Amino acid sequence: MTAPQDSSSSELHAEVLVLGGGPGGYTAAFRAADLGKKVVLAERYPVLGGVCLNVGCIPSKALLHLAHVIHSAEESAAFGVSFGHPNIDLDKIRDWKNNRVVKTLTTGLSGLAKQRQVTVLTGVGQFTSDKTLSVATPEGEKTVRFDNAIIAAGSQPTKIPVFPNDDPRLMDSTGALALADIPKRLLIVGGGIIGLEMANVYHALGSKITVVELMDQLIPGCDADLVKPLHQRIAKQYENIFLKTKVAKIESTEEGLKVSFEGEGAPESDLFDRVLVAVGRRPNGKLIGAEAAGVTVNEQGFIPVDDRQRTNVPHIYAIGDIVGNPMLAHKATHEAKVAAEVIAGHHSAFQALTIPSVAYTDPELAWMGLTETAAKAQGIAYEKATFPWAASGRALGTGRREGLTKLLVDKETKRILGAGIVGPNAGELIAEAVLALEMGADAEDVSLTIHPHPTLSETFAFAAEMIEGSITDIYVKK
Ligand code: NAD
Repeated sequence: MTAPQDSSSSELHAEVLVLGGGPGGYTAAFRAADLGKKVVLAERYPVLGGVCLNVGCIPSKALLHLAHVIHSAEESAAFGVSFGHPNIDLDKIRDWKNNRVVKTLTTGLSGLAKQRQVTVLTGVGQFTSDKTLSVATPEGEKTVRFDNAIIAAGSQPTKIPVFPNDDPRLMDSTGALALADIPKRLLIVGGGIIGLEMANVYHALGSKITVVELMDQLIPGCDADLVKPLHQRIAKQYENIFLKTKVAKIESTEEGLKVSFEGEGAPESDLFDRVLVAVGRRPNGKLIGAEAAGVTVNEQGFIPVDDRQRTNVPHIYAIGDIVGNPMLAHKATHEAKVAAEVIAGHHSAFQALTIPSVAYTDPELAWMGLTETAAKAQGIAYEKATFPWAASGRALGTGRREGLTKLLVDKETKRILGAGIVGPNAGELIAEAVLALEMGADAEDVSLTIHPHPTLSETFAFAAEMIEGSITDIYVKK
């Protein structure tokens, strides 16, 4: 490990410069430092962690935990245990989320950077050549001369230009997580992952929710049979879910945001106290001076890379949201290690067979590998088994029987091609399917693996047994 640099000098040298301090950026910086490189990490904000830790994955999961507690308490009345109406103290919730959850992690990160002698520069970084980055720090402009660079500058929420984006009642995910108040009526534009996770939170806190989704199903990337139990549950909880519908116009009025809709299921225009726009994210490729370094950025703002994470400039690498979909932290951290290791001379490459997706909704939705929709579209010969959680003692014991565990295998070899799970804790359960796919397992391997009883993890083995014909927990007609 090399000695830390004096970050107060106006010119620094890095064997590896990392631009962006989110999960991709800090992982790349730490891995490169662990491999003996002198690392400078430039981050716009004074705390590390990027969107995920500060205004994304982590605070949203903290709020989703509260939603889970509230919903579970409500539902336990059906099993004979009743609680009173919850008292919501927004100040305390914000303090817990910001100071006990997020700050603990971001402080931990800055400690990890110090332990590894990574020099952290705070300020917006812009490439000035293929060997230099200029960083506008609070103490003035600094130049970092680098031998190699890893771009990890992320993405930002997509804005719809015709909406009144200056009106604070119109929020993106960051605004929604700030929890300024609990709107009486909240409209969510976009029935994707962010939209439905925040719908869950605000519904638990007492808002009436309407969701508008452009496509013909919620979470369009996931198979419809897995989305159905989620849709059925939230349709009972929310005021409205409009599919194949878009928002044509939003007007700021004193009474609220007046919203007009367009499309097949379009309702009359309506008034909402707040609107959350969650229609995807766009990469920050055009905001970092990439042209000065000669790095290619495509029209959408993505930076194309090869399987070593190399851009068209051989000593400049890129990782995370800025290189393409899916925009997920666990993809970014995996790519980060590849980039750092390639720079250190290892024969690493991005060769993951799948990047799992999880929507932390209630029920949770998780899927990996091939979806059934993709298998059909690509004409892949597959066999499918879907195990209903209504036959799982563990699911019944939690009062939740709507879950499903679906397994797709190759029709001939029975090797695992894909899996999808809907139900509480699906996000935790999907990891086993990912491991099975990466290990080249077939249905027999999974069915002969003893799973602990009673657990929800058994449902994955039961789905494999359905393929093998050895299932005894349900009756499958031959
Ligand atoms: P998304 O792509 O998941 O969902 C956006 C949804 O908006 C889609 O269903 C799309 O059809 C719909 N849409 C697009 N334009 C619309 C319009 N004009 N009107 C109505 N609907 C419209 O994007 P997101 O939910 O904004 O999330 C952004 C990114 O962050 C995604 O890449 C997501 O994977 C990532 N993310 C992941 C997690 C997680 O892993 N749990 C959580 C939050 C965000």
